[in-house]
Amino acid sequence: MAVERTFCIIKPDAVEKKKAGAVLALLEEKGFSILACKRMTLSKDVAEGFYAVHKARPFFGELVQFMTRGPVFVVALERENAVAEYRKVMGATDPAKADEGTIRKLYGGNVGENAVHGSDSLENAKIEISYFFPGNEVAPVAG
Ligand code: GDP
Repeated sequence: MAVERTFCIIKPDAVEKKKAGAVLALLEEKGFSILACKRMTLSKDVAEGFYAVHKARPFFGELVQFMTRGPVFVVALERENAVAEYRKVMGATDPAKADEGTIRKLYGGNVGENAVHGSDSLENAKIEISYFFPGNEVAPVAG
């Protein structure tokens, strides 16, 4: 299986609960390397750009408001099969439906405030990592 990179946001709800460190520790326990990590508060423009694919969804305004209400951590992760493995560790969108031991089950509140974001494909992971870590902030993949 190939070594991949994926992208995580520790969302404002989890940061408010002081669970950012716990999320990072869990990811390391699950075999992910943290390639890059920074704390920032998303502007409305940055949040809208990041979630542009959801623009037509009824919850778009609520999502942008939530994601901009306080600091987040943006994180670039690496491990074998990272995209699928992180989706498993992250859990279902709705924390109430997420498996035991997943980040969303442990730290999520509801379908909107669900603790973390995770890329849904390798292609989107590349786009999302470069959205928040431009240039060579994350070393290019060797080879
Ligand atoms: P994900 O890939 O599991 O994060 O899920 P989606 O791509 O479907 O949705 C993106 C994000 O939009 C979710 O992680 C939630 O934060 C938010 N979201 C999804 N569904 C709802 C909803 O019904 N209401 C609200 N307020 N937010 C939602």
